[in-house]
Amino acid sequence: MRALPRRGRRSIWAGRARSLPENRLERLDMAILNPVPNVRQLVRLGVFSCHLVEGGDGLALFDTNLPGSAPGIAAEIARLGKPLRQIFLTHAHSDHVGSLDALAERFPQAEIITTARTARLLSGDRSLDPDEAGMALKGGYRTTRTTPTRLVEDGEEYAGFRAVATPGHAVGHVSWQQVSTGFVFCGDALVSAGGGLHVSGVFRLGFPFPYFATASRPKALESARKLAALAPTALLPVHGPAIRDPAPALARAIDEAARAFG
Ligand SMILES: [Zn+2]
Repeated sequence: MRALPRRGRRSIWAGRARSLPENRLERLDMAILNPVPNVRQLVRLGVFSCHLVEGGDGLALFDTNLPGSAPGIAAEIARLGKPLRQIFLTHAHSDHVGSLDALAERFPQAEIITTARTARLLSGDRSLDPDEAGMALKGGYRTTRTTPTRLVEDGEEYAGFRAVATPGHAVGHVSWQQVSTGFVFCGDALVSAGGGLHVSGVFRLGFPFPYFATASRPKALESARKLAALAPTALLPVHGPAIRDPAPALARAIDEAARAFG
């Protein structure tokens, strides 16, 4: 079969794009799900998400998705009609902080909250700490112009969310549990894309990126056990669908990882 000439191929898509209004273009690029009450999952390319959480007086955003996501995220914030109060970050991989700079410019009043360890990575410092021997900076860590405005420690609560240090997938990885609901925004500590809930570092042919990007499998397993002990009412991974009442799936995922990591 003969391939279409390049120019011809481009003109087909350019023609289709021109015929759509601008806001429809943004929608095309971002699917918006409502997996649990007051939470919107904003999905690009089928598997890259961030989550918007609606509270009484505003919105909190968990991670910022790939670069180029700010217009779609801002459109959803405008549709919900509440101010963006906080941007919580789980870790410094590009598909989580890719739109941080663009969002910080659009929403200068929003607090940006993460761990000191992730803030150091965002500043461009790629050195490892002595207690990180055996870990490696795998996957694409991104340097940002934006500096977090608030740093939290493991167990600390801020704006209704408790920080849960969950290193393993990435150095400095932190999950966030909403105190009022028990929902856990677990970043890449657990993944549900590519075939069932699994611990980051367990291989899935359908979505292998977290496997290749994981810094330490033993620590990822330890972190999954720590999350299970919190008895989350829902797990909201960045890659894949949210899991309600996740205890059985989480127990299976932990067993599988314990066998796989030997
Ligand atoms: Zn990651």
